[in-house]
Amino acid sequence: MPPFPLGPGALPIPPERDGRVGEVQLQERRHLDPEAAAARLSQLLRITAALSRALTAERIAEVVIGGGAEIIGARGGLVAMLDPGEEALAILLSQGYSEEALRSWRRIPLTVPVPLADAARLGEPVIVERREQLELRYPTFARSTNHYGTQAWIALPLTLDTKVIGVLGFSFAQPILVGAEERTFLMTLAGLCAQAIERARLTEAEHKALVAADEALALLDTVIDAAPIGMAVMDREFRYTRINRRLAELNGRPPAEHLGRKASELYPQGAQRWEPYWRQVLTTGRPLVDVEISAPDHQGVLRHVLVSHYPVRVGDRPLVGVGMVVLDITDRKHAEDERQRLLASEQAARQQAQAAQAQAEEALQIRDSFLSVAAHELKTPLTSLLGQAQLLERRLTQADNLNEANRRSLHVVTAQARRLRHLIGDLLDGAHLQSGQLAIDRRPLDLGRLVRQIAEDQQATAPGHTLICSIEGEPLSVRGDLARMEQVFQNLLSNALKYSSRGTTITLHARRQGDQVLVSIGDQGIGIPPEALQRLFERFYRVNTPETRAVSGVGVGLYVVREIVQLHGGLVQVQSEVGVGSTFTVALPLI
Ligand code: ADP
Repeated sequence: MPPFPLGPGALPIPPERDGRVGEVQLQERRHLDPEAAAARLSQLLRITAALSRALTAERIAEVVIGGGAEIIGARGGLVAMLDPGEEALAILLSQGYSEEALRSWRRIPLTVPVPLADAARLGEPVIVERREQLELRYPTFARSTNHYGTQAWIALPLTLDTKVIGVLGFSFAQPILVGAEERTFLMTLAGLCAQAIERARLTEAEHKALVAADEALALLDTVIDAAPIGMAVMDREFRYTRINRRLAELNGRPPAEHLGRKASELYPQGAQRWEPYWRQVLTTGRPLVDVEISAPDHQGVLRHVLVSHYPVRVGDRPLVGVGMVVLDITDRKHAEDERQRLLASEQAARQQAQAAQAQAEEALQIRDSFLSVAAHELKTPLTSLLGQAQLLERRLTQADNLNEANRRSLHVVTAQARRLRHLIGDLLDGAHLQSGQLAIDRRPLDLGRLVRQIAEDQQATAPGHTLICSIEGEPLSVRGDLARMEQVFQNLLSNALKYSSRGTTITLHARRQGDQVLVSIGDQGIGIPPEALQRLFERFYRVNTPETRAVSGVGVGLYVVREIVQLHGGLVQVQSEVGVGSTFTVALPLI
């Protein structure tokens, strides 16, 4: 019989769970004969060849365990790796052990007295050639393997530069005899295994790093490509090494047409403009940001762009090129221009409006001064005209020389002259009020009496209307300018008469309310549309309806009313319904 092992294929690995124990006779001779040595070498080469094809740690373990066990006639074999904390071994792969056996071995602390832990801890092979040795050195472990009839164990440290990374273990169903050559063979096998596993680990780490780098690059590419801003990277000779879709679009060529080509070759004009910037970045190593340029694009459309140039570095090495970030601000610029244009036209419109307003104000001033001059000039001849007419009327009446027709004519003359005087008075007052020149002289007066007096006077001149006057709680004392108060109620009453038909009733009602005196003058006339109410008291405002136009007037009466009432610390209000009538109410503070 050849020494341990029993020769290639001599002992297939019997499954331990079978419990079969082969009868092996211990070998006296401790050296291999040349034939066996040659066979061993070729086996080792076979394993080496298989290892070079194995890519993962598991596959390597499989090759080493399978090949090794076969050669040395082991019944089972395993590879266990040292955990990162170097406190325990974890089985990477095993062959020839039952599930049950493996369960208790899943993690083997280095402190446990078993051959595998010892080999890992000591960094030395542990070879237990026979059962008695096993029982002596590892009594507990020996007992636990009783059931499987384990006779011998070999545990080999997997070492890389003196550092233990794991163990390779074999168990035998028969005693073994390990000579110097066997030992060398086993150490070689363990060394091959350790190196192959390390290589696989490195390859795997490298592969993972490559995959991660690829993923990161793909992600970056996607982001860069989808970015709404243009980006490119150029080498030191200003050849495009990367360009995104947006910048390629702006350039008017697909990205692929750029790669590897010089900017000066693709865009001679543009490159002339940009190259000084790129050179500056390369020389200084500092970025140049937000350079604004306006130039026609490939379609001749004027574009405004903001370009930033960055140095591109890889680690500490010299600059490898220049990166460009291009922001197309054409739309923003257009929006800005448009905004400026709108601002300018708005300003022009405002100036125009101001000029128009100034013109209107000037026209109003001219109108007012003309009216007040005209009214002033008319006042004197009109007063004399009225005086003469009244004198004539009196004289002719005394001489009894006035027939009915002449009396009516004279009456018309005096009545119209009075109306004209009233109108001119209002116009002049309006002008004075406007310029703040209307003086009022306030004294205590009884509004009730005043209103009754006015009603009685008016009734005589307006026989077509019925005037009803009711006064409550006399005296209704206020502090006021008698002539101006008279003007207020006369204006309101004359409007009530003007804007209502003959045969209707006009009501005058004076009373107290709290600390105020209220005087209302209500008619059953044409009424005032709601939209006109707000402007009713403006100077020269007249309601623009055919009914109003049929009545003569200049729109000053109510303005004068409001101003006088306000000068007395009072208020005037109106309630009206078209076709039903209007009521004007004056409120003045009671004494
Ligand atoms: P006007 O000389 O036109 O009567 P006012 O200033 O007295 O001027 O009145 C302004 C406008 O108010 C009038 O033109 C008229 O349209 C309206 N108005 C005033 N009083 C009445 C009223 N009692 N009934 C209907 N409309 C009235």
